[in-house]
This record gives sequence, C-alpha cells and structure tokens, in this order.
Amino acid sequence: MATHYDLLIRGGVCVLPWGVEATDVGVRGGRIAALHVPADATAEETIDARGLHVLPGLIDPHVHLRDPGDASVESIPTGTKAAVLGGLVAVFDMPNTKPSIVDAERLAWKQDYVEQVAWCDMGLYVGGTKTNIAELTDLELGKGVCAIKVFAGSSTGDLMVEDDESLEKVMRSGRRRIAYHSEDEYRLQARKPMFKSGDPYSRHMEWRDEETAFLGTRRLMALAQKTRRPAHILHVSTAQELDYLKDFRDIATCEVLVNHLTQVAPDCYERLKGFGVMNPPIRGQAHMDAAWKAINDGTVDSIGSDHAPHSKAKKMLPWPDCSSGLTGVQTLVPVMLNHVNAGRLSLSRMVDLMCAGPARVYGVLGKGRLAAGYDADFTLVDMKRQRKIEESWIVSPCGWTPFAGMDITGWPTATIVRGKAVMREDEVLGSPSGKLVRFA
Ligand SMILES: [Zn+2]
Repeated sequence: MATHYDLLIRGGVCVLPWGVEATDVGVRGGRIAALHVPADATAEETIDARGLHVLPGLIDPHVHLRDPGDASVESIPTGTKAAVLGGLVAVFDMPNTKPSIVDAERLAWKQDYVEQVAWCDMGLYVGGTKTNIAELTDLELGKGVCAIKVFAGSSTGDLMVEDDESLEKVMRSGRRRIAYHSEDEYRLQARKPMFKSGDPYSRHMEWRDEETAFLGTRRLMALAQKTRRPAHILHVSTAQELDYLKDFRDIATCEVLVNHLTQVAPDCYERLKGFGVMNPPIRGQAHMDAAWKAINDGTVDSIGSDHAPHSKAKKMLPWPDCSSGLTGVQTLVPVMLNHVNAGRLSLSRMVDLMCAGPARVYGVLGKGRLAAGYDADFTLVDMKRQRKIEESWIVSPCGWTPFAGMDITGWPTATIVRGKAVMREDEVLGSPSGKLVRFA
C-alpha cells in the first residue's frame, strides 16, 4: 500500500544540507517525514513545485516589530504578515519596545500574545539592562527566548549597558550566547558636538564612524574572552571588524545586514535622505566589498534585515533628528535572491546564512535544515521571476521601503510553516498560527 502524507511537495529542486537535489518531500504531523518520496505516495494536499526551488524555511533573526509600541508603524500581526509575504517562516524580535521586554512579567505577556496573533514562528530577545542582571540567568532560559540582547551603545533609557564593568556583570550572568549592538557610546557622545541639526544626511556615517563600531567590538571581544561568554555581534558594518573577528571564532559569531550588502554611501544618503539612515550606518564601497568578501569566505554566520520601521514623518525630519532604522522584513528574501542571481553568492550559501546560520548561532531546535524529523518549514522560490519592489506591496503600516523601485530577479512564491501553507502567490492563507521557536 502506498504511503500517505499530510502534504507532498512534488517536482521541486531542494536545497538540502548536503547539496542541491531534485526530490519530492513528504510531510506528516507538521514535520518532514521523508525525502525521495516514491511516485505512488498519496497526500491530503500536494503542492506542485515544478520549476521552483524548495528551500528550508528562511529565518530573519533580527527584526523590531514595535509591539507594544505604535501600531500605526508596525505590530506583531502586521510585521509577521510582512514576513510570510516575504518568504520567511520565523523572525526573532528585539526587546526595545514600549515598554521594553526586560523582565519575567513582560516576557510572559509576549510569549502568550505571540502565539495568538503571529503569522510566522517567532524567537524573542530579552533586553539586558543594568538593573536586571541578576534575573538574566532565568530570563535567557524562557520559552521562545533566542538570546539576551545588549545595546552597548545607541539606545535610549533603561536598555543601555555602555560601561565595561556592567557589561562584564551581564556576561557573568547566564551561559547562552549574547547578541550585541556594538557601537562605543562614549565616542558617539564625544563626537556629537561636531555636527549640527540640518547637516547633510551623509554626516550620519561621519558621526558614527568606523572607529565607533570597531572600538565597541574590540571592547566586547576583550570582555568575552575574559569571561568566556559567547558573543554574537549584530550588524557588523566595517571592514576592520570583519577582519578582526576572524581571530575570535572560538567565542564570537557575527551578522551582516542586507542593507550593508545592497546600499552604499554616498548614493543612499543623496537618494534616500532620512530613509537611508540606520545604525550602524550604511558606509562606503570599501566596506560593502569587505562585507561581500566576508559572506563568501565564511566569516559571516547570519544575515538579517534589522527591520526597524518608523513613520514617514519621523524619517523626513532633518538629520540628526530623523529616526534611525529601516523597513526590511518583507524585502529581505527578494533582495537576497537577486544577489544570488547576480552571482554575488550561491543559493546554498544564502540558505546557510538564513537557516543553518541562525540555528547555529542561537541554538534553534528542529528548524533550519531540510531533513527528516525537522519542522516542515519551506520557502518556495521562483529563481526566474522578475518583479519590481513596489511600496504598495509593503503591508507594514509605516508604508515605505528603502528598496522601492529595485528590479528583482528571484521571488518567494510560497511560505510553509510546520506543514501549513501560510502564503502562496502573494496571498496570506488561513489564520495566524505562529508559535515560539524552540531553543537549546
Ligand atoms: Zn536592530
């Protein structure tokens, strides 16, 4: 008797951990039951993937969904809808909301809320602060917690941990890998008087210069070595750091953002004005070239969007009063597929950076790998489809993208989360059924 599945994905080219193979995939109970499914197998539902690539479900490990905060800009329901439209099966959400996620009570609220309203699966960062150090050991083991996030520079209010003494205390509280925003706060403050309101937007990268980022990373690596606490340096933006971090592979992993691989100064500031302002800043060609070199020599472990939407009104203020942060969760996969088609990286390396990479960095269980027993998460992509990124496609309420007008080759056509299609051909399907991601 033929084997029966819940779902069969027929005729696609699968990106497996050991190579690219044309094979049919069988799903049962929300997990991958078999590869190389024979022709006589039957299923409740069959997806015809001829002409498509079947990728393990892609993950964006760096988003700010602003919830609680300002739902007219973004929220978990809208941000996760954007994620599945953009081909993502999971996003890891940052804690700098209003209020911030920094204690057991707010974490419990978010854990509960996510599983009611999210369209994709989610990991949750908890903010490390000077006042919750003693609780971090417990907080980092909470359900769905991907990591403690520390803003070592560039934050407001209670989330900043800028001095070495406090940073060392944070590192000595708990064991899992800590994710860092690495810019040296003291240097930022010291340089601020050099600039004035209304200066050109390109001044953003002069204020937050290369040494601001590199100094932050040197300080963090010294402390990580001293305490032996694993570190993940988010959004590395300089050639100096990418070179330096090669000497810390025993203790550190790192992320590069799609923006730093796609947009370059001075063009981004001249063309996008405030809509090109983010932290750490988009820099010149030499840093973009270094980022691509680090993608292709394996220095980089993961890529993310750092989706950090703001209202158009706040982005249109003069520099430096304009808010920093760019919309990006919905465009991450198309922009990366376009880079694959342009020959800048292989499809296998893109999958490594968006599946195995986040799984390794954060200790994800049961995701990030197209293999039997893993969650039946898939991103189906048409590598030949050509499409322009239009602002009207963006479902985040803020309503803009810094990639508007970009011609893309390669597009996600379906998002399948734990065996359930949640997006096909630009249509979001069913009802929100996202769950918290499991971590080691
Ligand atoms: Zn961020």
